[in-house]
Amino acid sequence: MIDASPSPRFLCDAMLGSLARWLRLCGYDCLYLGTEPEDAELARIAERENRWLLTRDRELAAIGPKTQMVDSGILESQLAEVLNRHSLPPPEDLEHSRCSDCNGLLEDATADEVSAIVPPYVLETAERFRRCSDCARVYWPGTHGEQIHVRFARVRQKMTRTE
Ligand SMILES: [Zn+2]
Repeated sequence: MIDASPSPRFLCDAMLGSLARWLRLCGYDCLYLGTEPEDAELARIAERENRWLLTRDRELAAIGPKTQMVDSGILESQLAEVLNRHSLPPPEDLEHSRCSDCNGLLEDATADEVSAIVPPYVLETAERFRRCSDCARVYWPGTHGEQIHVRFARVRQKMTRTE
């Protein structure tokens, strides 16, 4: 089966570190390189890796055709802006999440495999574990608490409002 609409990939500029983490939690491949690279370098990386460059800097946004100016300073609104712009579905759950720390892919892990890392209480009570294939961070339901679902609900609200 041919996937007619492959997920876009993103590159967030230095001012959008939180947005990068949340795009990863929503399941999108999103690079974040901190404050190190110059604007021109960021644009080159985005083009080379076929990524949308997300920025709050108007000059940088004007550099190439695959750049998106993020207007809002509020995380939930930023997420809504990006998802709307690319006709992506509102965030529902964390089924397709990538590692919010490093953008790595998560893979299922057994309790035995994560027993050295996860606190004993979690080990006994969590229903499943996933581990980052790059940095080995372990995730389980509840890793991010309730906050994430509250945030997702706000994003969904903002997305329907702007339609
Ligand atoms: Zn990771």
